[in-house]
Amino acid sequence: MNFIEVALDLPLTTLFDYRCDEATPDDIGRRVKVPFGREEKVGVVLNVKNSSTLPLDKIKQAATPWRDVPPLPKDVMRLLGFTSHYYQHPLGPVVLHAIPPALKKTTDWQPPKRRTLSTSVSVSTAPPLNNEQRQACNAIIEHHNEFHTWLLQGITGSGKTEVYLELVRETLILGKQVLILVPEINLTPLIEQRFQARFPEANMVSLHSAIGEKERAQRWIDVASGKVQIVLGTRLAIFSPLNHLGLIIVDEEHDSSYKQAEGMRYHARDLAIIRGQYNNCPVVLGSATPSLESWWNAKQGRYHLIQLTERAHQGATLPSIRLIKAELKHDSPLLNQEIVKAIGERLERQQQSLLFINRRGFAPVLICNQCQWLATCPDCQTRLVVHRRQQRLRCHHCNYQRPIDYQCRQCHSQDLTTLGEGTQKIEESLQQLWPDARILRIDSDSLQSKSWATQIQDIHAGKVDILVGTQILIKGHDFPKLTLVAALNVDNALYSSDFRASERLFTQLIQAAGRAGRGSDKGQVLIETAFPQHPLFEALIHHDYHRFAESELEERRLIGFPPFCYQALLRGSAKELSHLQQFMRGAREALKRLASEEVMLFDVVAPTLHKIGNKYRLQLLLQSSSRPLLQQALSQWSEYLFSHAPHSVNWVIDVDPIDC
Ligand code: ADP
Ligand code: ZN
Ligand code: ZN
Repeated sequence: MNFIEVALDLPLTTLFDYRCDEATPDDIGRRVKVPFGREEKVGVVLNVKNSSTLPLDKIKQAATPWRDVPPLPKDVMRLLGFTSHYYQHPLGPVVLHAIPPALKKTTDWQPPKRRTLSTSVSVSTAPPLNNEQRQACNAIIEHHNEFHTWLLQGITGSGKTEVYLELVRETLILGKQVLILVPEINLTPLIEQRFQARFPEANMVSLHSAIGEKERAQRWIDVASGKVQIVLGTRLAIFSPLNHLGLIIVDEEHDSSYKQAEGMRYHARDLAIIRGQYNNCPVVLGSATPSLESWWNAKQGRYHLIQLTERAHQGATLPSIRLIKAELKHDSPLLNQEIVKAIGERLERQQQSLLFINRRGFAPVLICNQCQWLATCPDCQTRLVVHRRQQRLRCHHCNYQRPIDYQCRQCHSQDLTTLGEGTQKIEESLQQLWPDARILRIDSDSLQSKSWATQIQDIHAGKVDILVGTQILIKGHDFPKLTLVAALNVDNALYSSDFRASERLFTQLIQAAGRAGRGSDKGQVLIETAFPQHPLFEALIHHDYHRFAESELEERRLIGFPPFCYQALLRGSAKELSHLQQFMRGAREALKRLASEEVMLFDVVAPTLHKIGNKYRLQLLLQSSSRPLLQQALSQWSEYLFSHAPHSVNWVIDVDPIDC
């Protein structure tokens, strides 16, 4: 008599036993249909055994596991176990997270009818690598059979991607597979093209959540069947079912999108390192501005540091960065005169300009001039953003929206104005200045109407003169005709209570600056700030990541924050503030009893956004310089929370939080 232990997507820490006489150890990692209550569910077989601790009449019969689709590979199963344990998330949902949605249906899998696409790939040959690139590759390839984490810190345009390509080539020759993680779905088509052009013979797939369900599942099956050599994907691709992994690359490793921001809050970069360990293969983390955690790990010798210090393209140099003192007067024009002049020059020379402003919409504030009333979201404690083209006020934190108010909701005056500016307002004023210029705005609003891929083609084809956009625009692109980058309104980060805000700002500005002058024309970067003396800008104008990282590390050391300690955050939310407060207080008391003295507890506090979508939020931070002690406290604590949290409260433990 055989039994199987099944993982199901339920918020419970238990696994479920079923009777399944046909099951063999080969079925571990396969999907199986099981009865659950009155319904049927799809789970994953985690174990096959010949006894169960449950009484026989309580055990239900499972179907035969589906054998037409390959099982999850062993190392993925192990990685899922690690993820569940490390991130304090029940194993069932973690395991099911690794299965594409179309394979979680209770019906048999039907492969999609695929059109055979005869895409003509334009084949590209590798440029001869420069010395730094060659050395980087040699160092890593020499250890292709060992696990090491390599931190490839290369300035923007230094040819990191060429290093990846060479490493991929070597890995394919060895008959092994490659996993490449990128931070943005929008970046995958470009990188895919570049890799496919270099390796026209290789089977390559991209895996991310924007692919249709059936197609995504079919690609997943192709990967699991060993038909694919290169997988390119966003964070969820870390769980791709590759069986012969020989190399993992995490591009732009500092990027916060590697951390899942809801549900199971894993960090794909950190899991990449664990998966590399399981596979005895190199893990390459690439960035111009590594996260301070990675930088510190490299300094400590836990990672191997490799640096690329020069731009690779013949004749390309880093752009000059200049600070412009922001005008604080109320009636000063929207665009600084120097920026206007610089854009004008680019228009004359038929070069492109990019304006980076990290705020979408028209204006972030609608205010009454008579009584200072502000338009706020009724469900969140946030201001409503004015979207003038759509004539709407929108909350960027929940789905709330309404037509723009034409009179004050407090004193009924019609004297309302907008304050501040977003991408739409900048776009509008550029259009007024240069009615004939071709202006393209890129932010998450504009991307809903037209795909990024087509817009990128327009930029490359020279059909655009001025680009205006949020951070989407500054990640990883190579626009040869772009010679001017201007960053507006960057000072918010300097006021932020989040200790990582300045790291994020520095990274963004280096990224933004990195878009300028990638071809042979020298680039110029203008940054508008009210605090030109700030040390962050000092380091920035010298393109000096090291200087910035060292001074930032020193500050973190002084306040005892990561990377000098490890943190976790309990995030709670509820409709009733009193329920939430009571729960959080109880949780804190419990933790005090459970945790060792080397785990430090902060007070329960409200995050910057105290209320989102009609729910209040509170959080509790804990930290320790000992990872094992922190982990021990967390696992006991989460057991307590599972059994004590009332239904009216949602909670999650966020291990290694990146915003708190
Ligand atoms: P990064 O990923 O570091 O930003 P890329 O790999 O995209 O840099 O390279 C930047 C530019 O330099 C690209 O246009 C690329 O084709 C070019 N490039 C990279 N390596 C070389 C090389 N060894 N010789 C000539 N051009 C190169
Ligand atoms: Zn008013
Ligand atoms: Zn809202």
